[in-house]
Amino acid sequence: MTKFDRQSFSLTGQVALITGGAHGLGKYYSIALAEYGADIMVVSHSQRGWTDIRQAVESYGQRISFLQQDITVPGAADKAVATTLKEFGQLDILVNNAGIQIRNDVLDFKDEDWRKVIDTNLNATYYLSHAAAKVMADQKHGKIINIGSMQSYRAGKRIFPYAASKHGVVGLTKSYADALAPYHVQVNGLAPGYISTDMTKPLQEDAVRGPEIAGHIPNGEWGVPTDLMGPMVFLASSASDYVTGVMLPVDGGYLLR
Ligand code: NDP
Repeated sequence: MTKFDRQSFSLTGQVALITGGAHGLGKYYSIALAEYGADIMVVSHSQRGWTDIRQAVESYGQRISFLQQDITVPGAADKAVATTLKEFGQLDILVNNAGIQIRNDVLDFKDEDWRKVIDTNLNATYYLSHAAAKVMADQKHGKIINIGSMQSYRAGKRIFPYAASKHGVVGLTKSYADALAPYHVQVNGLAPGYISTDMTKPLQEDAVRGPEIAGHIPNGEWGVPTDLMGPMVFLASSASDYVTGVMLPVDGGYLLR
C-alpha cells in the first residue's frame, strides 16, 4: 500500500473465492466482501443458502457464481480455482472457510471421522491455497485468509481432530505467509471465538456450559456473526498489506484467560 485513505478498504474490481460461502459464518464473509466491492465465487457441498446469498450479493451490485463441489475430493481445489478464472477472469482473495467438527469420546473415535475432519479443515485448506498461490504469485498480489478457531490454540478433548486441524491451519498460515511474501501475497487468518450460529446453538443453550462459557469471555457475551465482518474486510483489503502470517482472534478476549 502506498497511501492510506478510505479507498484502502475498497475491494472494487476484486474477486473472492470463498469455501462454504453461502451458509453459517461464510455467508457473512461473502456479504462483507461484496459490500466493499468484491465479486464472489462460492464453493460448497450443497446448494444450501445459494438463493439468499445471491440476492444479498447482487443487492450490492456485485456478481456471484457458484460451484457445487466437495472440497475434499482430489482435483477439487484446481477445479475451484479454474472455475473462478473461467467465470471472472481473475482471483484476488481466497477465503478457506469450509469446516466441520465431529464430537466423540477419545476411545470411541473412528479413524474415518479423524480423516474427514483433517481432510476438510486442513488438507483442503492446503490444496486450495496451493492452487490459488500459483495464480496470485504470477500476478504478484493476493490475499489468502484461513479460518482457524480458538481450537487453533487450545485442546478440545472431544473434538481433538478439529483442534489438530485448526492448529495445523496456524502452521500452514505462517509458513505460507513466509513463502509467498516475496510475491506480494499476504496469508492471514481469523480465529473466531464463541460465535452464535447453528453449529454452536446447542452449546449456547446448554444450561451449564452456556453460562460457563459466557463467564469466561471478558465482556460476558457470545459473539455474533457480524463481529467477523470488519476483520475479514481488513484482511482482504490493501489496508492490511503489511500484515502477514497472523491469525487474528475475534473472540471478545476469550483467549486472554
Ligand atoms: P457451517 O457448518 O454453518 O458451514 C460450513 C460451510 O462449509 C457450509 O456451507 C458447508 O457446505 C461447507 N462445507 C463443509 N464441508 C465441505 C466440503 N467438504 N466441501 C464443500 N463445502 C463444505 O459452519 P460455520 O459457519 O459455523 O463455520 C465456518 C468456519 O468457521 C469453519 O471453518 C469453523 O471451523 C469455523 N469456526 C466456527 C465457529 C462458530 O462459532 N460457528 C467458531 C470458530 C471457528 P454445505 O452448506 O453445502 O453443507
